Amino acid sequence: MRDLNKRLDLCSINTATLGYQQPIHETIEAVARAGFGAIAPWRRELEGESAKQVGRHIRDAGLFVSGYCRSSYIPADNETQFMAGIDDNRRAIDDAAELGARCFVMVVGGLPAGSKDLAAARQQVHDGMAILLEHASSRDVPLAIEPLHPMYAADRACINTLDQALELCDALDPSESGSVGLAVDLYHVWWDPQLEAQLTRAGKEKRLFGFHVCDWLVPTHDMLLDRGMMGDGVIDIPLIRNWIEQAGYAGSVEVEIFSRDDWWKRQPAEILATCAERLQSVC
Ligand code: ZN
Repeated sequence: MRDLNKRLDLCSINTATLGYQQPIHETIEAVARAGFGAIAPWRRELEGESAKQVGRHIRDAGLFVSGYCRSSYIPADNETQFMAGIDDNRRAIDDAAELGARCFVMVVGGLPAGSKDLAAARQQVHDGMAILLEHASSRDVPLAIEPLHPMYAADRACINTLDQALELCDALDPSESGSVGLAVDLYHVWWDPQLEAQLTRAGKEKRLFGFHVCDWLVPTHDMLLDRGMMGDGVIDIPLIRNWIEQAGYAGSVEVEIFSRDDWWKRQPAEILATCAERLQSVC
């Protein structure tokens, strides 16, 4: 496993961690100043901005984009909406290309409103991903499916385990070309009894595109917005980082913390300093 001590260049800040308190250009400067090697911006931060210019600023600041967040949801209750979602994702993939993003993060969506047909939603995800994969490949943007914790199956993502995500990758890209793979987020997968085995499999299939770290707090007060800082919860982060790196992952260790009532109330500089300290001491 890589030693992160004095190696923040191996680490990335997902901008959600900073609570979107500053415009993207200030965030880029702050992340670079704090010594990190990469950044993972969100689409909401690029609204009204030129992706090309933001990408240039990121490179000029000495950073690269470890991942661009994130897809709009794929399942829809009619064809028009389905295709509108596809078009929206195509535009986001174009921006990911301008940013030079190492991957475009796919949070695939859950059940369409009023539906109980989970199998149909998953089929739509497959079909939508197949269309997007063609576009993404033409722009050289790898698609990283992020399996979400099953508690989000209804409203955020009906792809919920690494095994399920890898089956989808196999169906979409049997030749293992590197065009579709995984964003592995500790918050979503830490509990999975198959975690080590599936990470090993994903590495063999060259599908490890992203690794997001945070911690699981006990108790957790909000299932979306109460993620913990690394070291404050129950996830054995070095154990899992060792597994993913043994499996061949050599990309950024990306901090992604949604924390409405705690970290998002603090100054970006304090959040970044704490991330830096914890990455080097408990990850
Ligand atoms: Zn994530």
